[in-house]
Amino acid sequence: MELDFGPAVADFREEARTWLAEHLVGEFAAHRGIGGPADSEAWEVRLAWDRELAAGGWLGLSWPVEYGGRGLTLLEEVVFNYEYARSGAPYRATTSGLDLFGPMLLALGTPEQKRRFLPPILRVEQLWGQGFSEPGAGSDLASLRCRAELDGNEWVIDGQKVWTTMAHTADWLYVLVRTDPDSRRHRGLTMLLVPRDQPGVDVRVIRNLAGQDEFAEVFFTGARTSADLVVGEVGQGWRTAMGTLGIERGVTLLPQQLSFEREVADLIAAAREAGDAVPASTRDRIVQAWMSVRVMRTTNLRTLGEVLAGRTPGPQAGIAKLYASTSHQRMGHLAAEVAGPAGQLAGADYALDVRQRTFLLSLAETIYGGSSEIQRTIIGEQLLGLPKEPRP
Ligand SMILES: Cc1cc2nc3c(=O)[nH]c(=O)nc-3n(C[C@H](O)[C@H](O)[C@H](O)COP(=O)(O)OP(=O)(O)OC[C@H]3O[C@@H](n4cnc5c(N)ncnc54)[C@H](O)[C@@H]3O)c2cc1C
Repeated sequence: MELDFGPAVADFREEARTWLAEHLVGEFAAHRGIGGPADSEAWEVRLAWDRELAAGGWLGLSWPVEYGGRGLTLLEEVVFNYEYARSGAPYRATTSGLDLFGPMLLALGTPEQKRRFLPPILRVEQLWGQGFSEPGAGSDLASLRCRAELDGNEWVIDGQKVWTTMAHTADWLYVLVRTDPDSRRHRGLTMLLVPRDQPGVDVRVIRNLAGQDEFAEVFFTGARTSADLVVGEVGQGWRTAMGTLGIERGVTLLPQQLSFEREVADLIAAAREAGDAVPASTRDRIVQAWMSVRVMRTTNLRTLGEVLAGRTPGPQAGIAKLYASTSHQRMGHLAAEVAGPAGQLAGADYALDVRQRTFLLSLAETIYGGSSEIQRTIIGEQLLGLPKEPRP
């Protein structure tokens, strides 16, 4: 797919393309297409690649210059992300700091917090993890129980988080905790920034279906952080967290759709190779998969148009998320079908090829970033105006 972003950014686009062509070589080129939001594959290579991007000034393009960014427009950032996806470069290892925590801090942090944390994120010297979910609070974040109490000029944290992506590699965690013990639901929550490497933080890695160390349980037992490391206001953590989740569902969909497009092309090539072994019903579904990435393109362009016009996409981005994750899962199943019985076998030490990994990891896409059931509720209530479901 080719997209024309207009003459205003033509030179910038050329600069990005040239840089990527010159730097995506050697071991970085060998890892083309590797990684994903839920993938620890080739972690060290991907980190090295992120440092290469940092040295070239390609991280934080729209972040203010005073915090280490380049102060470019959102359109330029989108153009770069698009060219990035087109080049097939490895998936960035630092997305949690760059795409989630950084924008949240830019919007809600104090000048001192921004000066302290944003430049090392852009230099890939500091990695972050998102500590929201708990065993009893995922979709329903308002019921979370991990708590913190002020002791002099420090918060003392006790409780558990779960599914914290790459917590074992993170230097810092941004954690949503209950700071008012008498509060209920979304009141009395606070967003704290917590250094991971300290005696009161115990990180236990959870291995995913694809055999990777992807996320972790995090146990806090008297862990400490400085009293001023609150993002937003004490007791207003719900608002801060909702802002972050809005970012998570923002404008990353266009590059994602481009990578799905590549996967469909790969699927078609594999089906051609398998020839008559692919039944007619599977062929039909391959056509549907091809059409689904076209539909994603149109929806994503609409969302992008909204964002560039300065509007928040809102529930429409929820449709895009729901559609992309469910379509991608279908593509994964199709790829497994086309591969036939051989596709069901892992190599020695559970070695998987890229298609098998993509299939297994796609199963989580309808869970993280808002499960499909929750997305359907949001679409029903906020877009279609259906009656609200009962709330606890
Ligand atoms: C790969 C991956 C990475 C993740 N990374 C992180 C991370 O870095 N940081 C972090 O904090 N969390 C992370 N998560 C956690 C993720 O945000 C939660 O798994 C998700 O919010 C769902 O919550 P849950 O697992 O508690 O499931 P539950 O909320 O218990 O839901 C279980 C099922 O019930 C359905 N359900 C729940 N409530 C309703 C309702 N009201 N109506 C209809 N259906 C409902 C859900 O849709 C789901 O199908 C990650 C998860 C995965 C899979």
